[in-house]
Amino acid sequence: MTDLYRLLPEEMEQLVIDMGYPRYRADQILLPLYYKFPKNISELKQLPKEMREKLIEAGYTIGSAKEIHRVVSDDGDTTKLLLNLTDETSIETVLIQYPSSKINGHPRSTICVSTQIGCAMKCVFCATGQMGFEKNIKAEEIVAQVIHFADILQQRGEHVTNLVFMGMGEPMANYDEMIRAVRILTHDRGFGIGQRNITISTIGIVSGIDKLAEENLQIGLAISLHAPNNELRKKLVPTAGPNSVEDIIEAGRRYYKKTGRRVTFEYALMAGINDSSEIATELAILLKGNGSHVNLIPINPTAGDFKRPTQDNVNEFEQILSNAGVNCTVRVEKGIEISAACGQLRTDIIG
Ligand code: SAH
Repeated sequence: MTDLYRLLPEEMEQLVIDMGYPRYRADQILLPLYYKFPKNISELKQLPKEMREKLIEAGYTIGSAKEIHRVVSDDGDTTKLLLNLTDETSIETVLIQYPSSKINGHPRSTICVSTQIGCAMKCVFCATGQMGFEKNIKAEEIVAQVIHFADILQQRGEHVTNLVFMGMGEPMANYDEMIRAVRILTHDRGFGIGQRNITISTIGIVSGIDKLAEENLQIGLAISLHAPNNELRKKLVPTAGPNSVEDIIEAGRRYYKKTGRRVTFEYALMAGINDSSEIATELAILLKGNGSHVNLIPINPTAGDFKRPTQDNVNEFEQILSNAGVNCTVRVEKGIEISAACGQLRTDIIG
C-alpha cells in the first residue's frame, strides 16, 4: 500500500508514466489532492475510470486522518484534534488562530504538527516527553494532519497560513520522514505553503540542524534551549548529553549563516529553576551579538510540579536580555485550558 500523499509531485509523474499514462494525468491527481482533499481514489473524477481502478489494484490509497475527538478553546481560537492515522494509532494536532493578525484578509492560522507519537527526549517539564516514545510517523501522516485542518479551514473560507513542527515528538529524530513532508507541503505543485511560513523546532540535535541547513530550504529554525549552561540543561533535558549548549549555539550560527534565517531560541521559564536574574545574565552573555531571537515561554501546566514565574519575574528576565541587545519576546500561550499549548500534548488524557 502506498498513500498518494506520500509522493512528491515528481514521483507522482513517474508513477503515472510508469503506468503508461501521459504526464498531465499527474496534475489531475495533485490538484484535487491539495485543493479538494478527496478521501479516496474514486473521487479523482478527472482520471479515466480504468486508471482509478489500476491505481487501486496496484495498492495506492488516499490515507486520511480520522478525527476522533475535537476540543475548542473558550475564545474559539485554538482547536485540538485527536486524529487516528492509517494504522489506527492516534496523534494530537493543534490549530491556533490569531484573529487580530490578518494575512490577505484571513486570520493567521497556524497548524502545530506532530512528528512522532510520544518522544524519546524525556524533557522533565513536557507531557509528551514524560509519556515516552512510541513510534515515528510517516511523511504522509504528517501531511495528513495539515490536510485535515486545511479541509476544515476551507469550509470556513479560510486557509492554513503557517506550519510549526512543535507538536508531539522531536522532528530531527524522524528526519527523513519530516523532510519529505516539508518538501511535499512546500512544493508548488503540492500543498504549496511558503517555506518561510514553516518553523521546525528541535531540542538541539546538532547533526539534524546541520543537515537541515544543507537542504536549500528557507524554513525557520527554533531551538529549545531552556538553560544557558550544560549543568542545568541536563537536569531539564536529560538526553542533552551529546549536544552541549556551546555546540547548539554554534549549530544555530551555522544555520543562520547558511540560510540567512534568524534562529529562535525557545526558553520555557520555570519558577525557581531557570528564571533568576543571574541565569538571565548568563543567557544574555551566551547569545549576545549572534542575531538570534529568544522566545520566553512561561511554563504551561503538565503533570510535573513546575511553576510559572510571576509576571514581574518574566518581565525582569526579558529586560535583562533586551538590555544586553538580545532580541526577545514572551510567547502569548493559547489553548492552555484545553491542554493544547506547548508541552501539553499527550494522547491518553485528551479532554
Ligand atoms: N521536540 C521539539 C518540538 C516540540 S515542543 C522541541 O523540543 O523543540 C515545542 C516547544 O514546547 C519546545 O520549545 C518545548 O520545549 C516547549 N515545551 C515543552 N513543555 C512545555 C511546557 N510544559 N510549557 C511550555 N513549553 C513547553
